Amino acid sequence: MELVVATRNAGKLKEIRRLLEAQGVTVLGLDRFPEVPEVVEDGDTFAANATKKAEEVARATGLPCLADDSGLTVVALDGRPGIHSARFSGVSANDSSNNHKLLEVMAAVPEDRRQAAFCCVMALCLPGQPTRLFEGRVEGQILSEAQGAGGFGYDPLFWLPEFNCTMAELSLDIKNRISHRGHALLQIVEFLTPS
Ligand code: IMP
Repeated sequence: MELVVATRNAGKLKEIRRLLEAQGVTVLGLDRFPEVPEVVEDGDTFAANATKKAEEVARATGLPCLADDSGLTVVALDGRPGIHSARFSGVSANDSSNNHKLLEVMAAVPEDRRQAAFCCVMALCLPGQPTRLFEGRVEGQILSEAQGAGGFGYDPLFWLPEFNCTMAELSLDIKNRISHRGHALLQIVEFLTPS
């Protein structure tokens, strides 16, 4: 089976490809479809954005499509940055400026109030079928300085108490097993290849 993954984020594509290709699914990135227009993520929720991306890209390519919307929700920030995670520090944001901003806004938050979660909603749009949603979540804490060089996004600031390290210190295989995207993807693998 061929599946277009509606993301231009190389880090996400790598994680999704690693899991799905092990199940015999051929993953095509959006780089293979330069003619597909950028989908405007104007929904109020992860689910609305993921659904819109999956349906628009499936329509434009004529192929089954998987889209995800994900982000970081921080309890002390009332759930922010949430759906705005990618642009937390402004329109020309990148991982480094976003992490910098997160450290800044969390500077006065004490250690016992730094709980956060990575959340992911994946939308799977197969021809002639209603779009299906799969959700994953992983809990952690926001550190006060970056630690680790792997992963992407907020990974170096996201402490996983049960692993005693940050998300950026996990191998890709372990991150895939325990992450928000990993949990959502495992449900998709079960759906696509039921035993
Ligand atoms: P999206 O591409 O609109 O889903 O935005 C996701 C944003 O959330 C990314 O740009 C990252 O800032 C953040 N994010 C999502 N998943 C992860 C992850 O696994 N690690 C670190 N940051 C993530």
